[in-house]
Amino acid sequence: MDKIFYDIFLPLPRQGPGCREATLRALSHVHLQQENPRVLDIGCGTGAQTLDLASVLTGTIVALDNYQPFLDAIRSRAEKYPLKSVIEYHCGDMNDLCFAPGSFDLVWAEGSIYIIGFRRGLDAIRPLLKQNGYAVFSDMNWLKENPPSEAIKLFRVECPEMMTVQQNIELIQRSEYELVQNFPLDVQVHWEFYYGPLEQRLISFRKEHAADQDIQNLLDTLQHEVDVYRRCSSYFGYTFYVMKRT
Ligand code: SAM
Repeated sequence: MDKIFYDIFLPLPRQGPGCREATLRALSHVHLQQENPRVLDIGCGTGAQTLDLASVLTGTIVALDNYQPFLDAIRSRAEKYPLKSVIEYHCGDMNDLCFAPGSFDLVWAEGSIYIIGFRRGLDAIRPLLKQNGYAVFSDMNWLKENPPSEAIKLFRVECPEMMTVQQNIELIQRSEYELVQNFPLDVQVHWEFYYGPLEQRLISFRKEHAADQDIQNLLDTLQHEVDVYRRCSSYFGYTFYVMKRT
């Protein structure tokens, strides 16, 4: 079933909520000392943010994901993209980031830090950064108190450690980073660039695999997240955090 899951997401423009404008807005708060920085992009998926970063930064971006076909997709998308950076491809596990200490000027985790957890992510990434290096994460957060029970139930399974923005800010401050900036992604960005294309993909995939009950069940689960977001979008959503290693 894993392969089916990835097949659903492979042709999508991105595998999590975000957009070029938000990526570049976060990057505008990063003031790198190196002219040709070395950047690590973890959980890069098919590279929406990798390519956006590579279109403006000069240097090297190490695109890391544990699913090789996603990395292959970046390679072929990169051929049609005007790039200023070199992209290196690294198929690996973000739970085991085997890079030398101080290897990177910037570590980027867009829509992926939940895989190791925000707190663990801060701790794991800090040693990889040069002094005064930056980390940029986007993370799904609770935005209001008393979310509807269907949202609580969904994230109890999907993302049991989901925090509020304030809780994440406290973790950043306790983890020897300076919080440079944080901002939420608009509801419309969640729809236009992620939940909308995902919903269309679920409809077509459902038709192609009408006879397979396991696949239909998986599609129901993914559609449920889209439906809960449609009903509860003021209660949860993505926030960007731009942080500097102190
Ligand atoms: N950053 C991309 C974006 O916003 O479009 C992708 C975000 S997607 C929600 C999370 C990505 O993390 C997927 O591409 C998935 O293959 C990758 N991933 C999941 N577990 C991982 C792991 N243990 N190590 C490295 N990558 C992982």
